[in-house]
Amino acid sequence: MKRILPKHTDHPDISQSLILALKLQYALYFQGTGREFIGLLFLILMGFLIVYKFFNQPTFIPAVLPEITSSPDEATEQESPYIINPLSHTGWQPYLVATGETLSQIFQKAGLSSETWQEMRQLDQQTQRYISQISPGQIINIDSKNGQLIALTQSLDPIRTLYIIRKQDGTLSNFIHEKEVEKRMTFNSANIEDSLFLAGKRANIDDGILKQLADIFGCIIDFAHDIQPNDHFKVLYEEHFVGDQKINNGNILAIEFHNNGKMHQAIRYEDPDGKVGYYAPNGMSLKRAFLRTPVNFSRISSYFNSQRHHPILHTLRAHNGVDYVAPRGTPVKAVAEGTISYQGRKGGYGKTLILEHGHKRSTLYAHLSGFAKNIRPGQKIGQGQIIGYVGSTGLATGAHLHFEFRVDGQHRNPLTISLPHSDPIPMPQRPLFLAQASELMGLLEYHEKIMMASNEH
Ligand SMILES: [Zn+2]
Repeated sequence: MKRILPKHTDHPDISQSLILALKLQYALYFQGTGREFIGLLFLILMGFLIVYKFFNQPTFIPAVLPEITSSPDEATEQESPYIINPLSHTGWQPYLVATGETLSQIFQKAGLSSETWQEMRQLDQQTQRYISQISPGQIINIDSKNGQLIALTQSLDPIRTLYIIRKQDGTLSNFIHEKEVEKRMTFNSANIEDSLFLAGKRANIDDGILKQLADIFGCIIDFAHDIQPNDHFKVLYEEHFVGDQKINNGNILAIEFHNNGKMHQAIRYEDPDGKVGYYAPNGMSLKRAFLRTPVNFSRISSYFNSQRHHPILHTLRAHNGVDYVAPRGTPVKAVAEGTISYQGRKGGYGKTLILEHGHKRSTLYAHLSGFAKNIRPGQKIGQGQIIGYVGSTGLATGAHLHFEFRVDGQHRNPLTISLPHSDPIPMPQRPLFLAQASELMGLLEYHEKIMMASNEH
């Protein structure tokens, strides 16, 4: 079977940015700003970067291979097994799906014979599912002749289209065509006045990218409590396009976050086994073996306090963990990789889950409204995996997570306990990583310069 080969995807936005950068430096150099020497150096650097870029583009962002689950056996007209050439066909009659309308009703509208519907029932199960899931507002394209279906298309999502086509031998056949998805690199930056999410909104950065950001720095910055006015960040990330239409966001490639006067940088790296992580430009992991908080964007209502209950005053009471207030149903994440040693009700703790992390460390999550689906005692859980949801089961006045950290059976303060880092980039992969890191950090810098320069005019 022939596969449709993807076109090579290049990135005009990068070269345009480079040309812009060059123009900017050219202007700086010839305006006699007194910084000619620096300008000249920069010009040479930019020149080098352009040459490097043009010769190394595929290593920086790989061309996107669209996944074609199946394709017409032969797309050429002479050898086509189909009555028509599906991808270049023009004789479609479009039908807009109305609320509550089914495909068989559309078939009636299209004047198709009842046998056509029987023929459709012969197609594979996945195709049956697609055609039974048509939704209002969708457009179904149909071509027919004398009440017999010749071809039908149903758009499954912005990328995939289902084709059902009659073959030369009279039977119906189907395939899914996928449009080519292009990854484009986007630069953006934002200054935080109040909250990360408001700053993102003002700078037109999607929530999905901000969530990635919060995940990347989740072990270093507590976004619920550490964010200060005038914190700022700049970020390079991918956006996925089909033609000129943005489909969704891709991954953050590089990011620099200034929090309370401290700078944090992160680079995305995918190792040869396909494992993805974010690392500082020197190759150190940004992840600790333990996350700082098990609940995103929550508020701490009660801190760890090891003082025992006072039998006379009745005022001091040990609080063996930290309470995070969050709306009921907020996901609770495993702070580290571990094994479920307890899952169920536990007195005043209500619905409780305990994870064992090795080295005699364990964490406890209490007052849950429920557990994540498909988890059970004895199961291995990954760091950041959702294990349950915030609730108020057991002795709890309102919805919150009670979180405990134990080492060798002793309660420890989860907010102050010092925790190990995850592994850095392994030595053999260092050179590749360091090259990618310096290239991405360089791009981050000059995109910011371009943005600042364009803001000045
Ligand atoms: Zn508590």
